[in-house]
Amino acid sequence: VDEDNEDEELLGFGFRHLARRHRLVFPMRHHQSPRKTFETIDPSTEEVIAKIAEGDKEDVDLAVKAARQAFDQGSWPRIPGCERGKIMNKFADLIDENLEELAALETIDAGKVFSFETNVDIPSVSNEVRYFAGAADKIHGKTLKLSAQFQGYTLLEPIGVVGHIIPWNFPSAMFVLKCAPALAAGCTMVVKPAEQAPLSALYLAHLAKQAGIPDGVLNVVTGFGHTVGSAVASHMDIDCVSFTGSTEVGRLVMQAAATSNLKTVSLELGGKSPLLIFDDANVDQAADLALLGSLANKGEICVCSSRVFVQEGVYDNLVEKLVEKAKSWVVGDPFDPSTRQGPQVDKKQYEKVLSYIDQGRREGASLLSGGKPCGEKGYYIGPAIFENVTDDMRIAKDEIFGPVMCLMKFKTIEEAIERANMTAYGLAAGIVTNDLNIANRVSRSIRAGVIWINCYHHFDSGCPIGGYKMSGFGKDHGLEALEKYLQTKAVVTPIYNTPW
Ligand code: NAD
Repeated sequence: VDEDNEDEELLGFGFRHLARRHRLVFPMRHHQSPRKTFETIDPSTEEVIAKIAEGDKEDVDLAVKAARQAFDQGSWPRIPGCERGKIMNKFADLIDENLEELAALETIDAGKVFSFETNVDIPSVSNEVRYFAGAADKIHGKTLKLSAQFQGYTLLEPIGVVGHIIPWNFPSAMFVLKCAPALAAGCTMVVKPAEQAPLSALYLAHLAKQAGIPDGVLNVVTGFGHTVGSAVASHMDIDCVSFTGSTEVGRLVMQAAATSNLKTVSLELGGKSPLLIFDDANVDQAADLALLGSLANKGEICVCSSRVFVQEGVYDNLVEKLVEKAKSWVVGDPFDPSTRQGPQVDKKQYEKVLSYIDQGRREGASLLSGGKPCGEKGYYIGPAIFENVTDDMRIAKDEIFGPVMCLMKFKTIEEAIERANMTAYGLAAGIVTNDLNIANRVSRSIRAGVIWINCYHHFDSGCPIGGYKMSGFGKDHGLEALEKYLQTKAVVTPIYNTPW
């Protein structure tokens, strides 16, 4: 983003109009007149918001060159960690100051509920930056007592130029989830936002520049996966690629890394997470957790609890409560404060979810509520609650990434554990029980990266999250996330000045 260039083509006229409607100030410029553009759509209205520069391999090359130069010769990896932290804290302050603008961008671009964005999501974005700002001056190696007359120490060095490839479901959160630890480590980077919702990444890059992150350190290239994304994954001068997205594309990213320069890879991929509700659970609380776990963010959450296993003693009671509560789950205009669920992110996703709902019906599952398009315009779907779902149905196996809950009944703890693990994925799981023994036993037996007991979707900058099995490897959040962007160098020296 070059602030000096007055070219306004990056943001189309439509977006300026919308921006005015939502009282947004959008002072962004592109480094040159984009050769090609693509449209980003408001999923509530199906109207074009903006035309975005469509980057290509050549743009990725330029961005990597800038990042390489900033890494090899620039100040960012060399200044003391506390100085990086200071600039990152300023970045976090600017995110807070621009909270409403960022929230509105997420709502317009990705159909996310505005009240959630202002109260939860965007505040968590600045928290994430602050968490890693605080870590920037706490990156220490070890001293090593070696054999005979030698001693050594380890240096934790920034890994170099990082490529971040991110999805559309939490555009701002994903941006900082990747960039904040990499910035703290002293890396430079190229971010490839999802083509469905690229606006907030551009806005965040603008704020990062305002905060004083030097030129070349944080570069954003907008465009498509098969062009920009694949150029990042296969680039010979990128040292590490951190990917969040589908398992299918994650596999391609890993292949590209293997056949290019063997860059390190971390993959945060899809899921089909179980929520297990036991007989002793508080039914009211369990029903709320099931709705939250499965339907929050319109089911467009990698860790959403799309499989809800309910023990037989509490099953009927729970289903009744769920159906009753689902009636007050408001689907509609994401700017309306009473709305719980906005539109799916785009037409493709909307059609995919509806076709899975149809498939569920054809496979013999019973639809208890929802499952139909809502409204005349926009990609709205009434949340679908299915029962009589069997483990082998497609709706119980595939990641749908939409507001679809599959209810399944179980008898024993052993059965619950076995069936919960009966998936290729291993991202998250939830347990609802007041029995400590059940909670402990089940949480140790489920192969997933995060287990929520009597809660769901509780994210925290300090709590690492990442998959088991085909949900990928490598953690975001927590100090574990820093490790992805650091490498260890051992330095060995004799204690006395021996001739060898
Ligand atoms: P996606 O895999 O289609 O795309 C993710 C990103 O990869 C996008 O920026 C896309 O442009 C890019 N991409 C596409 N093809 C590429 C290629 N050939 N090479 C390199 N990059 C390419 O995923 P999506 O539809 O944007 O997001 C939904 C998926 O993301 C779901 O599977 C969801 O579970 C997953 N997700 C996982 C996590 C997690 O933390 N595990 C978090 C959020 C979303």
